[in-house]
Amino acid sequence: MSYERKNIRDMQGYSWGEQPSREQVIKLNTNENPYPAGPSVSKALAALTVDELRRYPQPFADSFRDVAARAHGVSSDNIIATNGGDELLRLAITTFVEPGHTLGMAEPSYSLYPVLAAIQGCHVARVELRDDWSLPDDFAEQLNTAGAQLAFVVNPHAPTGQLLPVERLRSLAAAFNGVLVIDEAYVDFIDPEQAYDAVPLIREFDNVLLLRTMSKGYSLAGLRFAYGIGSASLLAPMLYKTRDSYNTDLLSQRLATAALAAREEAAETWLKVRRERSRLTEQLSALGFAVIPSQSNFLLVTVPSTENPENQAREFYLELKEQGILVRYFDQPRLRDKLRITVGTPEQNDALIQQLRQAIETSAGRN
Ligand SMILES: *Cc1c(COP(=O)(O)O)cnc(C)c1O
Repeated sequence: MSYERKNIRDMQGYSWGEQPSREQVIKLNTNENPYPAGPSVSKALAALTVDELRRYPQPFADSFRDVAARAHGVSSDNIIATNGGDELLRLAITTFVEPGHTLGMAEPSYSLYPVLAAIQGCHVARVELRDDWSLPDDFAEQLNTAGAQLAFVVNPHAPTGQLLPVERLRSLAAAFNGVLVIDEAYVDFIDPEQAYDAVPLIREFDNVLLLRTMSKGYSLAGLRFAYGIGSASLLAPMLYKTRDSYNTDLLSQRLATAALAAREEAAETWLKVRRERSRLTEQLSALGFAVIPSQSNFLLVTVPSTENPENQAREFYLELKEQGILVRYFDQPRLRDKLRITVGTPEQNDALIQQLRQAIETSAGRN
């Protein structure tokens, strides 16, 4: 006897990147920051007492919202705090997409979107990225035709790391009839020379929702804290109706607030990641991998050309795993000849390069 709703029975759950319990694994598979959060976060953690946990947390995480509002030059009405970015994605779908209706996304992108859509019982209109992984010019028009009530755009894009300029997002927001969710999970790793800032869009458009997370840039993936930035009218139904009453806990509010208030501490890690991103790009290219230029903390690389690149990529993934290095392999169209590699510390990246060099030599020896 099954008690599930039909759409739940028919759906597949999310597949996580491996989260090994072995400490000595070099973990380059789920895009975590390789450096820990700074001293301000340690201090906030040490200052917590069990007595404080007796009480419920601030229902709207107002202390955090104030800090976030100041950091982005918006009002605290423009901020919603959530239990990870994943909760914000789920809230956006629950709030803005009717069951049986449609949401849109580019393909490929974050594989959680279709899972959340299936839970809601809505359809997914998938628009293929072009050969160079850019968004088709008529992306918004295609989704309007499909009747999409909401669309997801990841920027910088996952899994390629490519960045859309704000101008392009502006024209998307203007052309699209529904809510445009711009998933900026990796925004902190963008080169400052790009001068990227999409926050002004929330003043121009009442259908733009930006997703920010403390998981990647602020080294707090274990904490589960993220936030949305949008017009007050867009956020209101999520803030006052669809959210769990205490959706973020006291501990995460405290630490996230401390982390965002000490943004300059996190920014030191972003600089290190960018330096390693350049170095890793060069070294992987020298080994014969085709590397897509990335503005994120990961690289999507195509294995050096062989007769069977899909086999090759899977073999490299397995050989690295055997050597204690985890990277991500996606068994899906257009990605089977590729690996997605999180930028690690210099030592981790050196170990990766060394193992890949060996894997290439071994495979050349076999042929
Ligand atoms: C990591 C990630 C998120 C959010 O992650 P949380 O840990 O839930 O905050 C959202 N979108 C993309 C594309 C991501 O990679």
